Amino acid sequence: MTGLLSDLASLAPKNAAAAVKAAVNTSMCANADSRLSTAPAKVPYDRDMDSLIETPSLAGNVPDTIAISNVNLSLGSGAARVHILKDISLRVGPGEAIGLIGPSGSGKSTLLMVMAGLERPDGGEVVVNGTPFNALDEDALARFRGRQVGIVFQSFHLIPTMTALENVAVPLELAGNPDAAQRAAQELTSVGLGDRLHHYPTQLSGGEQQRVALARALAPDPAILVADEPTGNLDEATGKQIVDLLFTKHAERGMTLVLVTHDTSLAQRCDRVVRLRSGRIDTGTANRVAAS
Ligand code: ADP
Ligand code: MG
Repeated sequence: MTGLLSDLASLAPKNAAAAVKAAVNTSMCANADSRLSTAPAKVPYDRDMDSLIETPSLAGNVPDTIAISNVNLSLGSGAARVHILKDISLRVGPGEAIGLIGPSGSGKSTLLMVMAGLERPDGGEVVVNGTPFNALDEDALARFRGRQVGIVFQSFHLIPTMTALENVAVPLELAGNPDAAQRAAQELTSVGLGDRLHHYPTQLSGGEQQRVALARALAPDPAILVADEPTGNLDEATGKQIVDLLFTKHAERGMTLVLVTHDTSLAQRCDRVVRLRSGRIDTGTANRVAAS
């Protein structure tokens, strides 16, 4: 595992910790009980009715897949300490797709990391698929992420010493999936890479690498998929193919999707657009923000 960690660290120093956790985030707890989630049963969710529902009623009756309440987060130390997320409250329904937009430095990536359980807030509560993150220790949180959270990064974060198949299969194996290789091959085929299973990342185009990353994120069949500017390193045409694939998968699987993007037209393909400004949600953009 040390080799994998250093591979990823050298690939993307800034986000290495997050990438490592995302890629191998079940490694600490391979044999743990698979029934970690206390997720409530899903109920029908009618997006068209959204605007007609009183916000306070949502908290009690709709089992939001993501429920973030009064989250604050500061990073850095001393004079460099930055208050990044300021009193964030946000709810995202089952199967809903939200586009998270905002200027560079407004906290989009940080909020995504909080939703994914890769960054713990200083205060407030994060509940994903019925599981409060505050109640989980690091191992339990890693186990939860491995099964319930798919993550796609702008710069792919594939492990360069592994083939496409291994990049997708290894996290499944670590999570105890007995058919990891078969499942990985199936997922890679479903993103159009059935003929690239044994290629290494350097032998793949950017678009193909992002497809591998998408297959890796989707393979455990997560409840939520978070994507941080997934087209940022791709040319326009390739980016569009990836986005089309992302929305196709969202429609097929019905997972909750949070898509961070600079591109307003892309965000508008989501059910709802949420805008961050200087670490706060622009209240006009989040019609399912909790009343609390
Ligand atoms: P965005 O994704 O919207 O561009 P980020 O969430 O990456 O924004 O960053 C929000 C702010 O937090 C930026 O001002 C950034 O410099 C700061 N920041 C991010 N990570 C750290 C860190 N580890 N330590 C200190 N400040 C950080
Ligand atoms: Mg960012």
